Amino acid sequence: MKIAVVGLGGTGSAALRFVAHSGHNAIGYEQFHIGHAHGSSHGESRIIRYTYPDVLFTQMMSDAYKLWFELEKEAEEELLVQCGGLYFGDSNDPQILATERSLIEANLPFERLNAEQVKEKHPAFHLYSNETAIYQKDSGFLRATRCVEANIRLAKKHGAIIHENTKVQEIYTKNNKVFIQSSLGEEEYDRVIVTAGPWMSTLFKSLNLPLVPTRQQIVYLNINDHEEYFQANGTFPVWIDTTDNLYGFPNDGHIAGIKLAFHHCGQVITDVDAERTPVDENYLEEIRSYARKRFPNLGSDVTFSQTCIYTNTPNADFIIDRVNNQPNVFLVSGCSGHGFKFTILLGKIIAMMATDDNGYERNLDRFKLSSFHKILNKFSDD
Ligand SMILES: Cc1cc2nc3c(=O)[nH]c(=O)nc-3n(C[C@H](O)[C@H](O)[C@H](O)COP(=O)(O)OP(=O)(O)OC[C@H]3O[C@@H](n4cnc5c(N)ncnc54)[C@H](O)[C@@H]3O)c2cc1C
Repeated sequence: MKIAVVGLGGTGSAALRFVAHSGHNAIGYEQFHIGHAHGSSHGESRIIRYTYPDVLFTQMMSDAYKLWFELEKEAEEELLVQCGGLYFGDSNDPQILATERSLIEANLPFERLNAEQVKEKHPAFHLYSNETAIYQKDSGFLRATRCVEANIRLAKKHGAIIHENTKVQEIYTKNNKVFIQSSLGEEEYDRVIVTAGPWMSTLFKSLNLPLVPTRQQIVYLNINDHEEYFQANGTFPVWIDTTDNLYGFPNDGHIAGIKLAFHHCGQVITDVDAERTPVDENYLEEIRSYARKRFPNLGSDVTFSQTCIYTNTPNADFIIDRVNNQPNVFLVSGCSGHGFKFTILLGKIIAMMATDDNGYERNLDRFKLSSFHKILNKFSDD
């Protein structure tokens, strides 16, 4: 079959690789250059973890980890750094308790640490006596831009054709064939996969997709002393603070200092094509103030900062579906700020769906568009 993939971020680049690998005629469209910084999949690091309060995500991560290892092997480069992860908050936080239950149900190893034990193993962290941490050794981070580039490189090796700097203007169906209208003209396909991140709604206006793009900010702060406390050799794990809703990384070996950010949704973006503005001064101040209490050895100098987009669904579930009145068009979106670790699996699943392979064993009904409409109707009824 002749199959197009529209949007080559984390998900699209993976989908393209899987489609090409399965022997189909794969053609990818990307409106910018591969690895650009206007969407959601750029940068040095994205957390990868099993630690989710929702057991389906934990189980899906078992599938995703395998695919990341395979990608690393095939690409012959380091894409995943397994430095361990700390998931911490108040000892009675329902999220911590649910995450613990998910790990037990999925039969994954973890340790529960109190504030003193965290200090002993990971001296850069300061936890309070009411707090507890789940340490999971398989957590770490993915080198995001490199993952996208590796997928694209391998997709090409398997025969895929890439149209970079080519914006798709319209996708429509006539007589069971799908057509893509872009600056290259009109092209006919058997199947089209669309993984356009925050641009999904502009391509499918009539679908009323339950997606809200928000502006997110990340900051790197310098290390004042004890550089060795912040290294990705197990001393400084990736971390998520469930109370203050922040997360962060060890030194990634490329940018000085360490990266940290708030996870809560930022300002809603009404024009996804508008130029991105630099990180806000008050955001920098909030990050510095948090760092002072949590990481006493960090400094307050910003070594790097950047903005990025979350594409949010109402409950942070992904959309994985085919379009109702266009059965040869397949969608993945709504990665809701936690989707990079899943992109390789989402790419695989959508490539399987588009090539009539029903072999993925987990029940993905809750990711169908109709499930979101039920949730939204419920909200409007309440
Ligand atoms: C600050 C930040 C931190 C994050 N941290 C984590 C983390 O720690 N762990 C984690 O798992 N996830 C994290 N995420 C989420 C994760 O990065 C995203 O969920 C994921 O990258 C989404 O990938 P995507 O392929 O769906 O979308 P995108 O990366 O946005 O890709 C969509 C692509 O489609 C292209 N496109 C759109 N429209 C068109 C068109 N008409 N024609 C051609 N091309 C088009 C775009 O240019 C873009 O390249 C984070 C996100 C942000 C912003």
